[in-house]
Amino acid sequence: HRHVNYATQEAVEAVIDTGHFHPETLDWQRLEDYRCEGGYELLTQCRAGAVTVEALMEELERANLRGLGGAGFPTFKKWYFVRQEAGPRYCAINADEGEPGTFKDRHYLENAPHRFLEGALISAWAVEASALYIYLRDEYPGLHRVLHEAIAELETAGLVEPGYVVMRRGAGAYICGEESAMIESLEGKPGKPRHRPPFVAQRGLFDRPTLVNNVETVYWIPLIHQRGADWFAGHGRHGRKGLRSFSVSGRVKRPGVHLAPAGITLAELIEEYCDGMAEGHTLAGYLPGGASGGILPASKADIPLDFDTLQAEGCFIGSAAVVVLSDQDDLRAVATNLLAFFADESCGQCTPCRVGTEKMLTLLEREAWDAEALQRLATVMMDASICGLGQAAPNPVLGLLKDFREPLAAQQIIIKG
Ligand code: SF4
Repeated sequence: HRHVNYATQEAVEAVIDTGHFHPETLDWQRLEDYRCEGGYELLTQCRAGAVTVEALMEELERANLRGLGGAGFPTFKKWYFVRQEAGPRYCAINADEGEPGTFKDRHYLENAPHRFLEGALISAWAVEASALYIYLRDEYPGLHRVLHEAIAELETAGLVEPGYVVMRRGAGAYICGEESAMIESLEGKPGKPRHRPPFVAQRGLFDRPTLVNNVETVYWIPLIHQRGADWFAGHGRHGRKGLRSFSVSGRVKRPGVHLAPAGITLAELIEEYCDGMAEGHTLAGYLPGGASGGILPASKADIPLDFDTLQAEGCFIGSAAVVVLSDQDDLRAVATNLLAFFADESCGQCTPCRVGTEKMLTLLEREAWDAEALQRLATVMMDASICGLGQAAPNPVLGLLKDFREPLAAQQIIIKG
């Protein structure tokens, strides 16, 4: 069995790079092996009352664990809000990893499904949930098998009551990654986001208070307890605390999931974790948070990749899906590709998003871009769309208009206004 010294950066990488998973044989870390590493000890202590919810919440607060699905809401606070509501309550794990460029949850689920399940069961315990639902995207068929088998192992070992953990398949809709749409889908309805308030913490699954957590968020819980809140918060750069799993794709030598300190800059990430830019490519810009997190130019490669800094730039880190673009990428294709994606994935229930995404795509396909029309349309979409999809869809276009005038001109895209 592996013995990991968590003190070094290399060892931090080793935590996630367990090397258990082999796609062809679907070989992953079984229950017995996980228990040899101290797996399920925390869950057992929690259930026995040796660790209280309050103590664990305090630990997560000190560790600065925030929702890693995209919103970045402090995990302990989410637990607190759901616990304030009268029972029965539910817990639902969002494993519908659909943001383009994001593949970190898949990595954790493939390599350490039991560590994820322990974290999920602890979250369910924290809010005294009557059942734990896992909503897994259908595009990860191997993982359906892995999780079904892992849950069966738990049931056989008596660690969970049969039927307590319920697996549900997504059906390929990006919008079902939005928590209220996911809840609708879990209830068997079309995945359409709900108006808020009420929030899902108040009225979620089957109208009951529901704790919704992302896969990676709960994955960290047993490790944070094992290694201590200071271990987790002890990482970080440029004044930020914690660790982030960056899904890096695009024009770098070594794409993949890179576990790096929170607040690292793009330049540092490429240099230290991705072995530099791909041969013959020069950095032109990047998407810091998948399709919906906006776009930044190469001149902003030195700002910390974190929730707050990026917000000031009109972007967001979301699920930390970094797509690196080079001087050889066609910027019109980047913009139309992203807008076509949003137009395709819009659930269609509100006009600013359903019509706005189509309209914006049409405007981007014209020879000259009408900056004023694009900006006006963006304002309507951001102000009047029901959910994050319609609100975030204009982000990449606004970023291009703001920071990419010169490269756009070099690619013969004329901008009016
Ligand atoms: Fe549906 Fe788009 Fe409106 Fe969200 S913003 S509810 S995806 S139409």
